[in-house]
Amino acid sequence: MTALPTQRHGGEPLLRAENLTMRFGGITAVKQVGFSVGPGEIVGLIGPNGAGKTTCFNMLTGFYTPTEGRVFFKGADVTSHKPHAIARLGLIRSFQKTNVMKRLTVFENVLTGHYLEGRQSLLATFFPGERVRRAEREARESAAAVVETMGLARRMNAPAHLLSCGELRLLEVAVALAAKPTLLMLDEPAAGLNSHEALLFGETLKTLIGKVVQSLLIVEHNMELVMGVCDRIVVLNFGQMLAEGEPREILNNPKVAEAYLGKAAA
Ligand code: ATP
Repeated sequence: MTALPTQRHGGEPLLRAENLTMRFGGITAVKQVGFSVGPGEIVGLIGPNGAGKTTCFNMLTGFYTPTEGRVFFKGADVTSHKPHAIARLGLIRSFQKTNVMKRLTVFENVLTGHYLEGRQSLLATFFPGERVRRAEREARESAAAVVETMGLARRMNAPAHLLSCGELRLLEVAVALAAKPTLLMLDEPAAGLNSHEALLFGETLKTLIGKVVQSLLIVEHNMELVMGVCDRIVVLNFGQMLAEGEPREILNNPKVAEAYLGKAAA
């Protein structure tokens, strides 16, 4: 797989959230949150339960239109764009609920991810010409390369229901990668992994930068993974920004410890 150039977009970071606020009736789920993700970065978005992480993900990817604030991707204002339009620009997300079909093989699952990318007419589907056949061939080659990148080559033809929990988490990322994101947003990608599996998973994530994606934005409760892979961490609490910094700074921030553990324990 060829290396990705890490482009800047007119001096803009790849993704920039500006003063994002989301209200549901009387509830303010997110209030004036702003942060960015630069090319080549792995950024973690963390916070206790109900802090507003998923709501932020939904605003960044067009699933919610923010009540206030703006989202910029590759320098363009995408605040009111639909999710599929944002995905086509290269901002792809995974979901907490699995995107894997258990009866399909590893390879077939990744191949389904490619079809987000492809666009062809009904006529071309039933009467494929050389162009369609070439696209099909390229999709298969690309799917095989993604499976290999995620370290699943040995399991290429295994049905997904036979995978271990660790392999399943890798496959979920592979399916999202098949859509060729510039920035991949992962929602709890290490759910259910033990410490050892999470560390191995984190090592694989790090290898993706500059190879198949420019940047990653990760929501994750597994602190070992977050601290091990992120260049920068944004901490939310009660819908607001509590802290932002490198893992070491976040670990030593008493306000963060208090948010997670309560004042007495912190
Ligand atoms: P978790 O780690 O538990 O997944 P989170 O940090 O992702 O939590 P959100 O799911 O974004 O937090 O929720 C933030 C707050 O907004 C919570 O108080 C939640 O109850 C509220 N909330 C989220 N979605 C809605 C909605 N559609 N309608 C009303 N309130 C909502």
